[in-house]
Amino acid sequence: MSPFVRVLSHAGSAKSSALVAGLLYVGYTIMSLVGIGMIIPVMDIILDSSQQLNARPQVIQDVDSLHAWLAYGVTLGIKAYGPMGILWRICLAAMGIFVIKAVLRYGAMWQMATLRSQIAANLRSAIHRKVLKLSPGTMSDQRKGDILARASTDVTEIEWAVLTGLELLVREPLIILGSLAILLAMSVKLTLFILLVAPLSAWLLHVVGKKLKRKSSTAQSALGRVLASMESTLSGLNLIQAYQTETATQQQFSQINQSAMHATQAVHRKRDLASPISEVIGVGTLLMILLYGGSVVLTGQGMTGAALVGFVLFFYQLIPAFKAVTMAIYNVQKGSAAADRLFEILDLKETIQEPANALDWQSPKNGPEVIAWDNVTFTYPGADRPAIDQLSAEIRRGEIVALVGPSGGGKSTMMKLLVRSMDPDSGQVTMDGHPCRPSDKPSLRLAAIRSTYSLVSQDAVMFNESALENITLGDDNPDKQRAIESATKAQALGFIEAMPDGWDSLLGEGGNKLSGGQRQRIALARAIYRDAPVFLLDEATSALDAENEALVQVAMDQATENKTSVVIAHRLSTIHKADRILLIDKGQITESGNHETLMQRNGHYAMLVKTQTFAS
Ligand code: ADP
Ligand code: MG
Repeated sequence: MSPFVRVLSHAGSAKSSALVAGLLYVGYTIMSLVGIGMIIPVMDIILDSSQQLNARPQVIQDVDSLHAWLAYGVTLGIKAYGPMGILWRICLAAMGIFVIKAVLRYGAMWQMATLRSQIAANLRSAIHRKVLKLSPGTMSDQRKGDILARASTDVTEIEWAVLTGLELLVREPLIILGSLAILLAMSVKLTLFILLVAPLSAWLLHVVGKKLKRKSSTAQSALGRVLASMESTLSGLNLIQAYQTETATQQQFSQINQSAMHATQAVHRKRDLASPISEVIGVGTLLMILLYGGSVVLTGQGMTGAALVGFVLFFYQLIPAFKAVTMAIYNVQKGSAAADRLFEILDLKETIQEPANALDWQSPKNGPEVIAWDNVTFTYPGADRPAIDQLSAEIRRGEIVALVGPSGGGKSTMMKLLVRSMDPDSGQVTMDGHPCRPSDKPSLRLAAIRSTYSLVSQDAVMFNESALENITLGDDNPDKQRAIESATKAQALGFIEAMPDGWDSLLGEGGNKLSGGQRQRIALARAIYRDAPVFLLDEATSALDAENEALVQVAMDQATENKTSVVIAHRLSTIHKADRILLIDKGQITESGNHETLMQRNGHYAMLVKTQTFAS
């Protein structure tokens, strides 16, 4: 499917607008042709009395008889109203036609506005829907910036291409065909001239157009990098200023910006070639018509001066139409480069897929009996060693399992594998023996897997919504009473109620109106509110001060009672309550057992305890 057709398939409910616009343009074209077409011959007859006709002509069958009828009609008119009377009537009629033409055109543009904005909105929606299905665990920041760029500039480019493309590829060709038909009727020989030149110009423009598409694609990628860079500055502004790297950051940005500038420059220059080329060809043809037609008129062989002027006028109307068509072709080329880039995103393989042979399994209210990593290996895209390396471990119902170990050991990755943020390269994560990742055996539905967990992730993500919405996330019927209870347990009620709008206070982009500790308490309240059977806490207490931590600890003990939980924590108070402690290093379990057995073993864990270094 050509990218252009595929773009149009996203028009949704606005598809009919394209049709209506097309029809209005047909009307517009007819009015354009009639508008000019009616004045010239009438003027001819009024000015040249030898052309006037008193006898009623025969039925209309060809151009000559049509002209005869016109002459007869005008003659009758002159008799009734006099030449002046006919002249102003004709001018008034022409004016009326042009007004109708303008209205039709505006109507068509009105429809096009619906179509283009609908397409742009639908495309952005499609990207958003796609993003929701991508694996967050494996998406790089580069890719995020890139997707943003494609959703903004590429979609704009496509919108523009659709507009000019459809408008001009429908409207102008009609004008061209109509004009050519009239020209043919006026003089076959002269029209042949034009038709000889047309293929030449078409070929020239095609060659330039091809180059434009390639250059345009480069330019859009370059623009994407500019946006990504801008985004990185915005998100790291604090750090950039504190570390005084403004100059270096600006330089980096300038470099990226410069190369984007060169790329877009090349695109503009290529595109701007279209107009002059077609204009030169057009004017060249015009001069040849004047030369040849003039010689015909001078030698008195068949064509009158007025007819030649009429012919030239019609031809002159053709030139902007040709120019517009070539511009449209260019815009469509540029747009289809943008569309290609957009569809790359829409066609990205959804790495996390629902199993074809899904199992009708729901976690029991008190959680699965066993959740297991079964010989799991996972490598992040582009990494040179696995983050999880042939790891096997189990979480039994009601247990508290603590993951500890050096930073970068793979603890967070283990949790992401549980909720299927990504799938292992080999091995399986299982619940009660059922595989999570689609395999030969019937596997669990995504919804069944994810509804098993209440997750507090390492970065305590907040949305710029109200405190209530942040805590009741994912609940279609938020229960404020339960939200208050959850916030109370998470020691978050005090500061939520102290905010200017209380529960309705917006938390800011990424929760930037909160301190790190507050964010974590909201994240905790959210997990408590969700009330899923298994708690996953990725360093839920790392940003809390000692007093708060003690409070949250009590809350956690209550909340996780009768629940299964996996915690990544760096405070001994949390860890040593765990039924089982897994020491994770380089993606493997190097020690496991409870606090006492591990202390007795006097290995890596004992050393971490002695030095109080449960790294993040
Ligand atoms: P921990 O939580 O134990 O500190 P992680 O599970 O976050 O460790 O990371 C394990 C390894 O995977 C580290 O080497 C880290 O650099 C790498 N890693 C983590 N997240 C990503 C990611 N999104 N893309 C690429 N590599 C990653
Ligand atoms: Mg981590």
